[in-house]
Amino acid sequence: MCGIFGYIGKQDTAAELVLDGLKLLEYRGYDSWGVAVKVGKEISIDKHVGKIGNATVNLPKSNLGIGHTRWATHGGVTRENSHPHLDCTKKLALIHNGIVENYQILKEELLKKDHVFVSETDTEVIVHLIEENIKTNDFSTAVRISFNRLDGLNAIVIANADSKEIIAAKNGSPLVVGEKDGDFYLASDFSGIVKHTTSVLFLKDNEMVILGDGIQLLSLSTGEKIVPEFEVIDWKVEDVDKGEHEHFMIKEIYDQAKVITNIANTYTESIEELAEVMRNAVGTFFIGAGTAFHACLVGVYLFSKIAKKHINTSVASEFNYLEDFLTDKSLIMAFSQSGETIDVIEPLSRAKEKGSKIVAITNVLGSSIYRMAHHKLLLGAGPEKAVASTKAYIAKLSIVIMLAYGIQKETKKAKELLLHAAKEVDRLLEKEQVDHIKKLSSIFKNAKNMYVIGRGVSYPSALEAALKIKEVSYIHTEGLAGGELKHGTIALISKGTPCIVFAPNDETYSAMISNATEIRSRGGVIIGVSHKNAEVFDHFIEVKDMGEATVVAQIIPIQLFSYFLAIDNNCDPDKPRNLAKSVTVK
Ligand code: GLU
Repeated sequence: MCGIFGYIGKQDTAAELVLDGLKLLEYRGYDSWGVAVKVGKEISIDKHVGKIGNATVNLPKSNLGIGHTRWATHGGVTRENSHPHLDCTKKLALIHNGIVENYQILKEELLKKDHVFVSETDTEVIVHLIEENIKTNDFSTAVRISFNRLDGLNAIVIANADSKEIIAAKNGSPLVVGEKDGDFYLASDFSGIVKHTTSVLFLKDNEMVILGDGIQLLSLSTGEKIVPEFEVIDWKVEDVDKGEHEHFMIKEIYDQAKVITNIANTYTESIEELAEVMRNAVGTFFIGAGTAFHACLVGVYLFSKIAKKHINTSVASEFNYLEDFLTDKSLIMAFSQSGETIDVIEPLSRAKEKGSKIVAITNVLGSSIYRMAHHKLLLGAGPEKAVASTKAYIAKLSIVIMLAYGIQKETKKAKELLLHAAKEVDRLLEKEQVDHIKKLSSIFKNAKNMYVIGRGVSYPSALEAALKIKEVSYIHTEGLAGGELKHGTIALISKGTPCIVFAPNDETYSAMISNATEIRSRGGVIIGVSHKNAEVFDHFIEVKDMGEATVVAQIIPIQLFSYFLAIDNNCDPDKPRNLAKSVTVK
């Protein structure tokens, strides 16, 4: 969480470059933002509460700047708590991603040495600690020994009015350095950098970098030099742009047929390799958080059905408490769009200690999960900027379908199914279908509660549909297994309660129609998502039968429904309140 951006180079527009970078990274956190530049032997700073929007900065010309867009963990959403934070001398400016778990101990120690704190954040202790250590050390040594005293997973970037360098250090939270003609850019992820350069260095944990006339990469523990290895990424500037669309969420919904087609056409070889890895494992676990977990659950059903193979799953944050039985034969397959989800990284680290093998299924090359894995598969969805995940989910579903058939040595069949599904996704996004969903959202925009049910592989679709609706429109929505309804939740159905019912052309159809009838008998209004209309449906969304790939297509209308509910309720679908993309804190 939080977006970090830094610039040092020949251009004297550091403030503007940093602000521009922050705008591209704002999806990572949008409680407050701030920019600091070095001007002569001073730091100039500009900080604000709220989203950046179309803001401009009023800072002097400079060739060195840092900036931050915050997702608050410690301390309220105020200007004082926003980053960059300054030390007592106002010579050091620091931005931070993460949580300093021992900040209270460090703060007490620094208070005794007469440091004056102006914020409630954990972050501010870091800049005072560096201020303390710089009294007896050079800048980089002061940063290194200070950073090594921090507990928790953190990334920091520091500007020093008395130095011509920017220093960054990380352990846990992500940081990327970009280089172009001797100019350096620093960002939390490369979507912030790609418009300047595609030549990037992913900082590893326990590394720090000094940027100035050149680049020095050092080990945080020993201070020894490391040779920086830049790599070229293949994302394009257009990929991080909304194009003709008003929001990233809708743009990303429209990207989905392309994402499916790409996986169907180009993944056969890597899927077959991974299927072989899965065949050799004794105990396979799919883990993920939020939407990624729903993809894991789809995988469990599809592996049972197609591959006749049992897969265990758990939300990643709970896997910590379920992993005592892991061995060196276990295989953990981690699904994470950003590859930085802390709830996924933690259990993976422990599983790795037990010798278990790790597979990363992520959208971000070079991300932490990507790097820690023994086997890697990229989602190939292109940058996903809306906080609510859409195309990365569809990519994960396409991959689990390919894999489940891959175990049976039938990737060709999966490919055909997916190409077929991509056509259906395109159809579902034609104007007529979209207008139909828009109309439905205008009917239900004032609902206080909604329910979504599905059985079998459509049960995770129900969970995902409910998550999508609530995260962008703030309408309370519950997703549940069709059979569970009468075990409690049906008590909440009353006249007019909207219920979305997934009733695909599979073995769940009759039971789902019965569940819909039970809801309707109690006054519920049924929105049926099915291959055919039924008498019990008050509203009907047609999703053609795609066999095992129906699960890919059937979520599309509900993604659209969520988007339009957000618009109708004046909510920002790209930046829902309290949320951030890439959840890098616990
Ligand atoms: N813990 C810091 C704060 O609350 C940093 C949060 C972030 O990563 O945005 O300010």
